[in-house]
Amino acid sequence: MGFPPAAYQPKPGSVIDVDRAFYDRLATGPRDLVDEFVIPIRSGRAWEVPAGLLCRLIITPAGPQVGDLNVWNRHNPRERLWAARSRQLQSAHVSTYDRLWSTLPYLRPLLTITKDTLESYGVDEEGGRVHDLLGSRCDPYVNRILTDEDFDFHCHSNLVRAVLPFGLTEFDVHDVLNVFQCTGLNDEDEYFMKASPAKPGDFFEFFAEQDLLCALSTCPAGDLSVPLWGPDARDALEVCRPIAVEVYRPDPGLTEDWRPPVSSKYQGLHGIRLP
Ligand code: ZN
Repeated sequence: MGFPPAAYQPKPGSVIDVDRAFYDRLATGPRDLVDEFVIPIRSGRAWEVPAGLLCRLIITPAGPQVGDLNVWNRHNPRERLWAARSRQLQSAHVSTYDRLWSTLPYLRPLLTITKDTLESYGVDEEGGRVHDLLGSRCDPYVNRILTDEDFDFHCHSNLVRAVLPFGLTEFDVHDVLNVFQCTGLNDEDEYFMKASPAKPGDFFEFFAEQDLLCALSTCPAGDLSVPLWGPDARDALEVCRPIAVEVYRPDPGLTEDWRPPVSSKYQGLHGIRLP
């Protein structure tokens, strides 16, 4: 059966067109490690990735784990990841060469994925794919609706605690990229989550197109092999693992001709007529 083509079709040479050779050189070229840390289970951390640097999220030897990622312009938190538009301009699950796009009125790449060791997972027999932009973060409000219980370490709460030292609040936390998370839509068009197929050493690496503030939550559902809600739900503590983060500065020669992307050139007034 043939499907209609993607709706959002770029013109050749537009900012949507990715120079794959440039990102391949970044993925494989020389680099210096400038920061590394581990985010413990059921917690969150925020960190800066200056424009032109690479950031790698890594599955540790402890095993698979899902991470919920938020991204902002470091200097302007109103410019942040727009999951819905990123789904349309890229796809509902992202991999190498895909970009995460920012909100209006900016609409420019925040980051470009340079290497995804789970790229070969593709689509499984149930329609599951990895690195999910479809769903969002788990949060204590929906948990209260679903379980009548309070829990303080959902991804939303982990991200809230993570961004407080950077002057941001709960209202700055937004829809996430679920890194290492395998999801899809079932035949009722309902969202499903499966156990993460990630293995120790798997990583997801991106190039910062702007000065970024990133925040990652290690999901309290761990690798999602245990249902978070429903009749089979139980505490997933035994399948919760840390995620490691590394930040690299690529060899300066690799980025000397690169410039940060500019905001969308629309300069209209939305049809508003001034007197
Ligand atoms: Zn979560």
